[in-house]
Amino acid sequence: MPSKPLGPADIFRCKKCGDCCKGYGGTYVGEKEIKAIAKFLKIESRRLVDQYCRVSGSRLVLAQAENQYCVFWDGTCAIHPVKPHMCKSWPFIPGVLIDIKNWQVMAGSCPGMRIDVPDEVIKDCVARRLSGSQSE
Ligand code: SF4
Ligand code: SF4
Repeated sequence: MPSKPLGPADIFRCKKCGDCCKGYGGTYVGEKEIKAIAKFLKIESRRLVDQYCRVSGSRLVLAQAENQYCVFWDGTCAIHPVKPHMCKSWPFIPGVLIDIKNWQVMAGSCPGMRIDVPDEVIKDCVARRLSGSQSE
């Protein structure tokens, strides 16, 4: 019987190391995300923006704490259920479809990503995730 093709959950498992939450990554937050995070934290959206966001170009990003981690990193993501789309979608991002080499580059700083699978499998998994397919 042919083996089941690898899915997104087979090529990426977050190890919760927090490495991607450190450094200036520019985690963009849109209006809906700001509302959701503020609601989760039970604070006003205005306060969330003033206290926990910074402006990057014309957009808002989550601020960094003094230790260079995202302000919401506390050994784990303190806003996990409502974390921004960028955090939720990692590492299944359009940039990988544009240039498959990006997967290997990203994997250099993310121990949860497998690099021992063929490019075609990676592309297929990324495309499936981006198309909203929930099949793993
Ligand atoms: S760097 Fe990768 S494995 Fe570590 S927390 Fe981020 S997504 Fe998870
Ligand atoms: S919101 Fe959570 S997952 Fe995203 S960078 Fe901050 S701590 Fe990391």
